[in-house]
Amino acid sequence: MLPTSVEIREVGPRDGFQNEPEIIATADKVALIDRLARTGLKRIEVTSFVRPSVIPQLADAAAVLTAIDVPPGVSRSVLVPNAVGLDRALELCEHFEEVGVFMSASPEHNWRNVNRTVEQSLAELEAVIGRARDAGLRVEAIISTSFGCPYEGVVPRPRVLALARHLADAGAQEIAFGDTTGMANPVQVREHFEEAVASLGDVQLTAHFHNTRGQGLANVLAALDAGCASFESSFGELGGCPVPAGATGNIATEDLVSMLHEMGIATGIDLLALLHAANAVRAVLARELGSHTLIAGPVDWKRNG
Ligand code: ZN
Repeated sequence: MLPTSVEIREVGPRDGFQNEPEIIATADKVALIDRLARTGLKRIEVTSFVRPSVIPQLADAAAVLTAIDVPPGVSRSVLVPNAVGLDRALELCEHFEEVGVFMSASPEHNWRNVNRTVEQSLAELEAVIGRARDAGLRVEAIISTSFGCPYEGVVPRPRVLALARHLADAGAQEIAFGDTTGMANPVQVREHFEEAVASLGDVQLTAHFHNTRGQGLANVLAALDAGCASFESSFGELGGCPVPAGATGNIATEDLVSMLHEMGIATGIDLLALLHAANAVRAVLARELGSHTLIAGPVDWKRNG
């Protein structure tokens, strides 16, 4: 029994843009987010409060947040890496509704990514989640390398689910499992979400797949089969990861929406409007993007129009 509708959070303006080597003009980011916010998407990750020296591409977080014009009912989220990031974000908390925090299930990946042990990250994030909740924000906790680590290989599922339980108990209302370097396979994903649904039924469970090895949508189907009805994706298939070098990133939102609509699963998103947004970011970046539906067009223009 597949769900009849799913929620999609668009992460392109953060997860996608942060991997672009050329700085994108703030005005272009704002125009693209405003366009995405009029496609029927109800949740958009708009930027991140990481240290500007670490990710210069998102150094304009405050300018983007205060300039975007997002209709009521569209939830804006920002990513915060730690307590300092939360402090910076909270100065602008009237401009967003949700906070995302992240850590890795793999000790080696977590150390390389945020220079902390898993235990240190967990302790810090528990405090960050509590403070964000106290500020009236909704909190998503993202667990990177949930399905495999480029340094350590297999990441044991009990470790991932125990981490998720800790983050949920700390107050996170949503747990996203990230396949950060595209190592997941559909059998693994199905088993993962079956167990996650059983042990984390009190929080929203979200799948964040990367298409690094072309298995992103196969993994979506496996997650749907196991009861997951919440996904994260990026318009244009923007995004990537330094490991492996040159690898593609998130699944494309328009590929996800196209597949779901063809399967009779509602998203609330206007596929043609989304394709126009993907086309607009292709023009801004002035290069071809990985999105299949952007290249091929919808299955049935008339039905989707
Ligand atoms: Zn991603």
